[in-house]
Amino acid sequence: MEAVLRVHPAEYVGKIESAVPLEGLVALDSDTIMSPGTFEALLHAAGGAVLAVDVVMRGEADNAFLAARPPGHHAERARPMGFCLFNTAAIAARHAQAAHGAERVAIMDFDVHHGNGTQAIFWSDPSVLYCSTHEMPLFPGTGARRERGEYDTIVNAPLSAGDDGRVFKEAMEAVILPRIAAFAPNVIVISAGFDAHYRDPLANLNLTEADFAWATGKLIDVALDHCDGRIISVLEGGYDLEGLAGSVAAHVLTLMGRRMPTHTPPSDQASTGS
Ligand SMILES: [Zn+2]
Repeated sequence: MEAVLRVHPAEYVGKIESAVPLEGLVALDSDTIMSPGTFEALLHAAGGAVLAVDVVMRGEADNAFLAARPPGHHAERARPMGFCLFNTAAIAARHAQAAHGAERVAIMDFDVHHGNGTQAIFWSDPSVLYCSTHEMPLFPGTGARRERGEYDTIVNAPLSAGDDGRVFKEAMEAVILPRIAAFAPNVIVISAGFDAHYRDPLANLNLTEADFAWATGKLIDVALDHCDGRIISVLEGGYDLEGLAGSVAAHVLTLMGRRMPTHTPPSDQASTGS
């Protein structure tokens, strides 16, 4: 809770907690819905982010991936939105600063939607660089290139419906990666949404598992140059289960320094156990 309160006001957290239904579902807006287990899930996500930051900042792991839901990047300080109630990436960034003395945290958000909440939380904070690739126009409507923050520490690289990995890689190499390198972060937090996958039903970008692996590898390179490879990655969106599973596997295997396994024909699967 201490880590949550570094990002969200106590009144807001209390409001969310008191809105938890005893049974059934309650809608906070048209797509942000709570069940009896939501508040506990939120605390697990926040606690997982804290644990991930702790083990990485202490050097007990090179990096960590947090497989938790609900996602967080649409949540503003005092406003739930777009499936998000607590901003997990922001909680991780603030914990790295408050508990481990990180002076500069870079957040890379490749979810297909713009992380309006993360951008708003760090809009006037020069110690956190927020970078995003996202489809535009699309929910939530923010993320234009001209949105740069009070200290020019917001970097938006919007993509267009139909764009594929080639355009995504251009945006990463020309716009995002040089800014992260120039910022020289002490740790990198990834808002890892996989709804830019070509199979995803909520958006219209055409990224593949290989594109997510490529982006992860590039972020590892920057992290190795500036912060001993320290990366904390938190799951955001991803709504096609096959696309999500394959993309998370590609992301995590890359974080582990391993390649994606080559496709195993169905007849061989039982014997290889991969
Ligand atoms: Zn999303």
